[in-house]
Amino acid sequence: MLEIRDIDAWTGKEDIADCIARETSIAKENINVVNLRAAYGGTQTALMLLPTRQARDVVEQGRLKISVVSCRVRQAERKSARCFRCFAHGHETKTCQGADRSKNCRRCGTAGHLAKDCKAEAAEATAFRSMLEKESKETRTGTGEGEASSSGYDLQ
Ligand SMILES: [Zn+2]
Ligand SMILES: [Zn+2]
Repeated sequence: MLEIRDIDAWTGKEDIADCIARETSIAKENINVVNLRAAYGGTQTALMLLPTRQARDVVEQGRLKISVVSCRVRQAERKSARCFRCFAHGHETKTCQGADRSKNCRRCGTAGHLAKDCKAEAAEATAFRSMLEKESKETRTGTGEGEASSSGYDLQ
């Protein structure tokens, strides 16, 4: 997944794919512009899927000419998605299969207070964070097929 910034406002998804195909050796049918949104200063930011190996080459170049603009290219961060229900990373709230902590403290994970009133020890907050990290990894590997298997594991 790549992110291309500074694209001018008149360029559409189709044009972007055309330009990338022309500037690189990637066949147009392998270029999938998944998202195009307005950004600062009348520019647009595009998110796209490219074959991994070629995507790496493009990221290394750092820039790509789209229409008449030399655009900045970087790897899009997918990890930044954070669930508002269980607080783990790597999935969205609507696909959450974790515990419902939406009313709990975001810092220590305990019910009954919010993070701004949290009086938990730093060690507790750290322990909660590393637990979330562990859960994030588990849910990330579980995306795709077989998602149904992760319910009912609370009994141990
Ligand atoms: Zn979740
Ligand atoms: Zn707390």
